[in-house]
Amino acid sequence: MRAAYRFALDLKEHGHFHDVASLEVRLYGSLALTGKGHGTDRAILLGLEGETPETVDPSSISGRVEQIHASSTLRLLNEKPIAFLPAEHLIAVVDEMLPLHTNGIQFRAADPAGVEIATREYYSIGGGFVVDADGNSIQPPLPEKCPPPFPFKSGKELLQMARASGLSVSEMTWQNETSWRTRDEVSNGLLRVWQAMQECVQRGCRQEGILPGGLKVQRRAAELARQLHERGSSAEGDNLSPLDWIDVFALAVGEENASGSRVVTAPTNGAAGIIPAVMHYFARFCQGANDEAMVRFLLTAGAIAMLFKEQASLSGAEVGCQGEVGVACSMAAGALTEVLGGTVAQVEQAAEIGMEHNLGLTCDPVGGLVQVPCIERNAMASVAAVNASRLALHGDGTHRVSLDDAIATMRQTGADMSNKYKETSQGGLAVNVVEC
Ligand code: SF4
Repeated sequence: MRAAYRFALDLKEHGHFHDVASLEVRLYGSLALTGKGHGTDRAILLGLEGETPETVDPSSISGRVEQIHASSTLRLLNEKPIAFLPAEHLIAVVDEMLPLHTNGIQFRAADPAGVEIATREYYSIGGGFVVDADGNSIQPPLPEKCPPPFPFKSGKELLQMARASGLSVSEMTWQNETSWRTRDEVSNGLLRVWQAMQECVQRGCRQEGILPGGLKVQRRAAELARQLHERGSSAEGDNLSPLDWIDVFALAVGEENASGSRVVTAPTNGAAGIIPAVMHYFARFCQGANDEAMVRFLLTAGAIAMLFKEQASLSGAEVGCQGEVGVACSMAAGALTEVLGGTVAQVEQAAEIGMEHNLGLTCDPVGGLVQVPCIERNAMASVAAVNASRLALHGDGTHRVSLDDAIATMRQTGADMSNKYKETSQGGLAVNVVEC
């Protein structure tokens, strides 16, 4: 959606907008193989019409996509009608890859005589980040106010800077973020993220029925939430009842993602249930879950994600599901440890445990849909994140495998994994589970 929106804006900025008579969009590599199941086709149509992930009304998506299919017309930036037949003009090139990354997209625009007037390539590199053909981010750069005071790029640097400054991970990240934005912008932005996560869980706990895409996967979050509410205090003897709630929160987001609704990319959409599930667990079952703690949670989680992004990848298409669910588990484990009062060493240990036991995790979505194994996998990893945090909090932060070791292993394992297991739906569960 971001890439399509950027392309449409580019046409306008370069004076091509009114000359455009036709468009062609080509998906390459992993996007071609699993893009349809991941909702890429719908996202592209809406991005061309001027929508962004932050502003699109989730309830309007299906109707608008149906309208484009029925009328064979889309409205570029919601202004200029263009003939567009998705079956003909949105092409999956399954046997080719663009040079920079397996998630490549090419947009072409032509004038009424069929002469090409603009071609652009973009890559979705994971974590919601999109780069152009030169590898530059399509997001406008942040205003350069002053360099961040804690420019850690590895777990080792993070530990060293924390030791020298006496600050926690969230405090260092806060100081970094406020070197680019005001304190209110950072804090309000993070609270908006938390709000979007809560709305997503609430929507997911209301929706019932079958998920779209043809696998006939039944939504479970709403029914499980109802059972837990009904059980209420009678579940008091069940000490593991919080685990059921963690499952509900994670399933709710996974199901919303699978149906193309709005989720917070954290660090990816396939793994979007884990951070909200663990935050909701913290809010419901732990002490001290106020807004300030939620901001600290997200600052810590973001700092951990950045270490993975710097040293490895957040992309299932590049390193398998360890790059999505594994990273989310690591982020949630470290962040929960921080808000529960853990030391920086314990935060780093929890993040390490969260990744260590997801190493080698394959990406093999059945039918290319982000449903099986993705939705349940979010629930499993959310519970693992809570356990990783508890393991770290029970010790003093001393541990044998560092977070950097786990990240390096994850990168190497991802590089060694067959492409079958990297979001191509050509191996694993994707070939062993019968789709109908
Ligand atoms: S298996 Fe993991 S990496 Fe692959 S689509 Fe599902 S959540 Fe994403």
